[in-house]
Amino acid sequence: MSSYISPVQSSRNFTASKFPHCDNTLRTCFKTCKRKFYFQHRLHLRTYYGSTALRYGSVYHAAQEAFYNHIKENGWTRDGEALKAGMLAAQKEWEEISAKEQFYEDYRTLENCFNSVLRYMSEFASDAGYLKVIASEEPFKVLMQLETEKEFDAFPDLKPFHFTGKKDLEVELNGRSWIFEHKTTGMPIDQQAVRLNRSAQVMGYIYATIKKYGGRKNAPDGALINLHQLTARKSTAKGKEGTYGEPTIAFRRVPQVFNDNDLYQWRLSMLDAVDSMQKEEKKGTWVMNHDSCFNYNKACTYLSICQASEDLDDLRYDEGKYYIGEAWEVAKGVSAEDVII
Ligand code: SF4
Repeated sequence: MSSYISPVQSSRNFTASKFPHCDNTLRTCFKTCKRKFYFQHRLHLRTYYGSTALRYGSVYHAAQEAFYNHIKENGWTRDGEALKAGMLAAQKEWEEISAKEQFYEDYRTLENCFNSVLRYMSEFASDAGYLKVIASEEPFKVLMQLETEKEFDAFPDLKPFHFTGKKDLEVELNGRSWIFEHKTTGMPIDQQAVRLNRSAQVMGYIYATIKKYGGRKNAPDGALINLHQLTARKSTAKGKEGTYGEPTIAFRRVPQVFNDNDLYQWRLSMLDAVDSMQKEEKKGTWVMNHDSCFNYNKACTYLSICQASEDLDDLRYDEGKYYIGEAWEVAKGVSAEDVII
């Protein structure tokens, strides 16, 4: 069934006041394709067909969050309650996501998530008593405005905005403090570790944290990426074709430290992205980027819409496949007084 989004619903001109924040998800989406950004973050168009990889990432993340929250509140206890909290949180997240969307089922199962969490606890058992949780799931808003002549020259029309995000953890480990970010991957773990070494998300989090502490002196030294790989191959054995073999479960903690120039280059990149976004809000053209319709042979979620209705004033979507969801905002609970200047 096709549905029509009227020009009123799809109003393409937003004022600057309606665009007060940008986070890494918004920046990445805008850079990938402006039309995709419009569908995802202006119309809030969501699909009923979820990503199995994203579901696994959310469920594993929920387990980690509940586990470390328990440790933050109660310290390292030997009663198994932190693990239990992690497992219950994983199950709840799995059930909630699975009830909302449909998934192509593969090896990224709840059972493999439970197994991975158990393996993680065993692999990092020596953290007990040595890893101290300072903060957990801390959202932030940083006021971004032009500061130098060079910036005023480069972005004369840029309006102030908030850079937002949510750090997984801040920890002390072996006498050093770190931002601690959980990441899951289906790629070989060494390859992913190299890719993450230029992560704009992590650079932004370090930038925000240094701002929060008023300088590098008391801020964490850098980020520790808590990487988890889960992969499995389809069996070709007779009688088992199409089923998945024993999964590869691996972990790696990858330290990332950025110098002042890295962080300033990140800042310029963010200013540049938001400058383009604010201009696009006024133009309202939201041009397509055909280079991004297929990524690693995976089609963009909105391909059928782009193929059926190129004109934004005559936008149609299949109501059996898409629905209008909620706006994405990671730091909406941060009050005006808590904005980092
Ligand atoms: S299908 Fe291509 S043009 Fe359309 S939103 Fe996705 S990436 Fe952009």
